[in-house]
Amino acid sequence: MPGVCGRCRSAAAEVELPYARLRLCPDCFSDFFVSRVRRTVEEFRMFREGDRVGVAISGGKDSGALLHALRSAFPGLDLVALHVNLGIPEYSAHCQSIAEGLAGELGVELLTFDLGRELGIGIGDFEGTAFKGKICSACGTIKRRLFEELAMRAGARVLATGHNLDDMVGIMLDNFLHGYWGQFVRLKPVLPPLAEGMAARVKPLIRSPEREDLLYCLYRGIRFKEIGCPFSKGAKVRRMAGLLEAASERNPQFRHQLLNRFLELMPLIEGIAPRPEFSKCRICGFPSQGDICAYCKRIALVKGDRGGAPSESG
Ligand code: SF4
Ligand code: ZN
Repeated sequence: MPGVCGRCRSAAAEVELPYARLRLCPDCFSDFFVSRVRRTVEEFRMFREGDRVGVAISGGKDSGALLHALRSAFPGLDLVALHVNLGIPEYSAHCQSIAEGLAGELGVELLTFDLGRELGIGIGDFEGTAFKGKICSACGTIKRRLFEELAMRAGARVLATGHNLDDMVGIMLDNFLHGYWGQFVRLKPVLPPLAEGMAARVKPLIRSPEREDLLYCLYRGIRFKEIGCPFSKGAKVRRMAGLLEAASERNPQFRHQLLNRFLELMPLIEGIAPRPEFSKCRICGFPSQGDICAYCKRIALVKGDRGGAPSESG
């Protein structure tokens, strides 16, 4: 890409941001990325400087960029990195070593929940259950719940996750196409705690396109996982990503505009599909929409299958 950076006017431009009509050098791009994270946190009042903020890190580029950018944007912030080891052979050890490396480099405390050590199971055990063929569905429920548990263990008031602009718009469109109105509320930039003592959930990267998370990692030397999860299918996500990319080529602001319109509509959507009422899970005590929460049901499924739970045969 010829030309000089549109900000510093001295270094060579390497990154083109058509939606902002900007061409930036790596350093100015990194500053731009961090400023946008800071502005997003402030815009939605995600947390205050004195809060303890847990950051869910998976070993991937989005959460890696998130932790690094939060450290840069708020140098005095009390950050704690949270990681779930899913017990997937080779993949989980790789992800955990990346999480440990990043937290260590940034001087951020890291708290890990190890599914194998704490529960005696691994995500692969769901292959022997009704979740065979949709392991990601069980995994998503388990991760969501364990990050909340880790945030509580860490004493964090806020739990930040790495949902990026493409994730947000992709999920919003998918919900819209299928009329999953009840799912929309989960996409709010700030979700208040489900119960006392739990953390609020925030998404500081909602205005950051996925490609820019990757570029930020590359320019800032942030390592991220080099192997994929063996259970990843991703077909639906890729289909939506392809659609969004094609639309963004015609209209560079397409994803940003969609996000903004969705955010404007959110109060209306909440009106037709309000956040459900929660009671307490009879087993773990966490907020649940039924007698037993989705997490406990899934864990029981695996433990039951392997004889870890009381069974007829004893
Ligand atoms: Fe879990 Fe699926 Fe992601 Fe693997 S690809 S970590 S199974 S959600
Ligand atoms: Zn439960």
